[in-house]
Amino acid sequence: MLNFKTITITTSSATLVIVACCMLFSISWFWISAPITLWLLATIIGSFSMPCNFFLTSFTSNKSLTSNKIAITFDDGPHPEFTYSILDLLDRFHTKATFFCIGKHIKSNPEVLKEISARGHSIGNHSYSHGNFIDFSSVSKWLEEIQKTDAIIKELTNDTPSLFRPPFGVTTPNIAKAIKETEHRVIGWSNRSFDTALKNKDLVLKRIIKHLSPGGIILLHDTQPNTLYILERLLLHLKQHQFEAVTVNELLNEI
Ligand SMILES: [Zn+2]
Repeated sequence: MLNFKTITITTSSATLVIVACCMLFSISWFWISAPITLWLLATIIGSFSMPCNFFLTSFTSNKSLTSNKIAITFDDGPHPEFTYSILDLLDRFHTKATFFCIGKHIKSNPEVLKEISARGHSIGNHSYSHGNFIDFSSVSKWLEEIQKTDAIIKELTNDTPSLFRPPFGVTTPNIAKAIKETEHRVIGWSNRSFDTALKNKDLVLKRIIKHLSPGGIILLHDTQPNTLYILERLLLHLKQHQFEAVTVNELLNEI
């Protein structure tokens, strides 16, 4: 399995061999750049690709499912307006979802978080600040981000989240070390809607439907004005095609 450890050992060994060859056989020192470039490339690609499990084990779907279950997830909330509308819509369709919440947004909207929990949905940790440069954080900063958010969720719902979704879906060696300590289950997605980038609601919906498959995890955001429109049509489509939307925990517990 190609992961951070194996690629680091392999490229370090290759670098040592090349150094020895350069010294013994007068080979050009230029060749040292080859394993270093390979390590850099693999590390960058691994950071942005959660299904590769490059730095840590994550769950992006449950391919072993034989039933038509999928999980709908909402990131970046709770939002004081959109989240309530989404909760009402989910109730209308008797559907449970998973909300990956940001600590500082929970702090501003504690009642919304309580409502998510009261209506029987799952709540996951999505860091405290979700800052633009959060991926460069140290292990201790990651621990602070995760534990601070866990504490607020626990205080408001009496439940500590077992799930964590890294901001931007990026993983790093430091997140891996922090997660080893906090023991969260790291969750990605298999069906990315691009709802924050695409302004055309129907195009977003079309993308999700095109990539629907049993055991899949759909990524949406409850901070977007278009989400309600997309979700309503998605839930209708799921109903018509006998898909059942469940929480991430329920989807993965069937592994
Ligand atoms: Zn996010």
